[in-house]
Formats: sequence, C-alpha cells, structure tokens
Amino acid sequence: MNSEFAFINRIRSRAALRSADLVCGIGDDTAIITERAGREMLVTADLLIEDVHFKSDYTPPRHLGHKALAVSLSDIAAMGGEPRHALLTLGIPKNKSRFPNPDPQWEEFFAGYFALADKFGVTLIGGDTCAAPDRLVIDSIVMGNCARGKAVRRSGAQPGDGIYVTGELGASAAGLELLRRGERLSENKDSALQRALRAHLTPQPRVEFGRRIGEAGLTRAMIDVSDGLAQDLGHICEESGVGAIIDYAEVPMAAETRLVSESDESAFTLATSGGEDYELLLTADRRDETVLKEIAQACNLLLTRIGEIVAIDPAVCASPLLLRQAGRIEPLRARGYDHFA
Ligand code: ADP
Ligand code: MG
Repeated sequence: MNSEFAFINRIRSRAALRSADLVCGIGDDTAIITERAGREMLVTADLLIEDVHFKSDYTPPRHLGHKALAVSLSDIAAMGGEPRHALLTLGIPKNKSRFPNPDPQWEEFFAGYFALADKFGVTLIGGDTCAAPDRLVIDSIVMGNCARGKAVRRSGAQPGDGIYVTGELGASAAGLELLRRGERLSENKDSALQRALRAHLTPQPRVEFGRRIGEAGLTRAMIDVSDGLAQDLGHICEESGVGAIIDYAEVPMAAETRLVSESDESAFTLATSGGEDYELLLTADRRDETVLKEIAQACNLLLTRIGEIVAIDPAVCASPLLLRQAGRIEPLRARGYDHFA
C-alpha cells in the first residue's frame, strides 16, 4: 500500500458499478442511490475488531474479508430483505507486522469480500480508510430493501407459532474453541475438524431463504443466530412479549460440537449458547410449515422445528425460555455472548 489513495483506487477498480439503482458509487463525497417506490430501505452496521472478534494469527485474510460482509448480509437476511449496497470502513494499524506484506494480504481480503458480494449481487459503494493505532478495525455496513411493510421484525411472534432454525448449531463455536487450542485451517483437507474451523471462519449467510420467506410473508418473527440460540430467541420473546419452549431432542446440534465436548450436555450448551452460527431463527404459523420446508429445500437448507411459542405472564415466570426434556419442562439455562459481561 503506497498511499491511502492508491489503496482506495484499487478497491474502486474492483467495485465496478453494477447495480441498477446506483447513480454514483466510490469516488465522490457520497454515493448516490435512487429510491425505489413501494420499497423500504434496510441498513445494518457491524464492527469487527482485531483481538476482540478475531485474531490475525488464525484468521486468513480471505476468510476475514468474507466474514466482514457475511455478518452484515446475515442481518439483512434476518429481516427478509434483499441486500443491495455495502460500505466498508477500515482502520489499518501502522504496525505492519500484524498484517505483513500488506498488498497480498489485502488482495486476499478483497478476494474473500468480493466473492461473497458477487454471489449476492451486492455492490461496494464507499467507505472510509485511515490508519489505526495497533489493531485492525473493520466496520461493515450493508443496505438492502424489501417491499413496504414486509420487513420481518423480532416482535411478531405469537403463542402457538412453531420455532424453526436453519442448518445446524454449534459448529462455529466448536471451531473457535479449536482455533484457540492451536488448530489451523488447511484448505485441502476435509475432516470434521476442518469443517468446524470453516464454520467459524466462513459463515454462510442465509440470504436467499430469508428473502424468499420474507417476501412470501411466511414468518412472523425472525433473527439471525449471532449470539447463540438461547440469547437470540430471548430477543424474539422479549420483543414479542411471549415465551418459548425448546424441545431438547429437536435442536439440530452440529456433529462438530463433539470435537470439543465430552458430554451431551456440554454439546447442547455449545449449540445453544455458542453463537456465530449465522443461521436464521424464526417463528411461523405451523400451517405454513410444509411451504417453509419446501423453500428451505430449494435453498439446500435444513429447516428444523425446535419448539413452540407460548403465552407467558412475566409476573409469574422469570425466564421466558423453557426447555422440554424427557417430558419435563424447566427454565433453559444457557447464556449467549455479551461483550460487556
Ligand atoms: P472523504 O474525504 O470524502 O471521506 P475519501 O478520500 O476518504 O473521501 O474517499 C474517497 C472515496 O473512496 C469515497 O467515495 C469513499 O466512499 C471511498 N472509500 C474510501 N475508503 C473506502 C473503503 N475502505 N472501501 C470502499 N470505498 C472506500
Ligand atoms: Mg474519507
């Protein structure tokens, strides 16, 4: 990187204007986007800070570029929207030793970023670049849209709804634990261990599924699983003023959880509290289950009903999250990630 402007120009040359509603992308004081009648804009930002969200010693730059965008695409998916435009702000430490030979490393970063952007038709339209004291800081912003009034919020869950989750849970948390223990990604190998590392380093946002069920009005409440099933389901319950019963036996635990847990119980804890799965968690009228499963199948996704939404009286019940196991119902004891805990 010889200068900030050469760096930006290289990004610009890769982020060619490809979106019909984009009037001006990178290169002016602001980007210009045409507003579309009958649509609502969805906007989300995610901060990734070195040594807080990732460590450079175990995160290949290509995977970091992928993940920076993936986490924001997952938020748009969770609203049932279509991602369109992205902004990327980088605080790059002067201490190059953390990112040796910046050019190839940044080429890799953008290879990962743009491969995912291209996959979902997202155009990078701007951002900011500056030097940072000693840790890499990445702020990823994605804008998308959906038909007016169609965004799927956390607040729409109703008693009687089924609770559904895409994919499997816990592989990412297992991958993080394995990275902490010193395991490293090896591109050409395929094993449970490598799949766990990949689940953590390159999560796949469920953009197509989220958009399709949002458009079809098939889900009442939705969230992406970033902080762990228990915590994210807790957000739906809180916003909707309802409770939830999770069926222990139905939670789709990733086989990779076994790599780091000795007991069923600890595997379950990893699957429900681990986080960073970036699967979609939703509630829906059970009469729509067949259609939901068809759409999931068309998107090559597993969709599992893991429980049901129930009415609760907050004055009586301290925890809105319950676990049904072997016929007994008790409070779900699981905690997700809290940055300030
Ligand atoms: P300003 O001084 O107005 O902030 P800059 O010189 O920082 O402008 O940026 C010039 C152009 O490059 C702008 O269009 C800005 O959005 C874009 N840009 C800067 N950094 C990035 C980045 N990391 N990714 C994408 N676009 C960027
Ligand atoms: Mg600037």
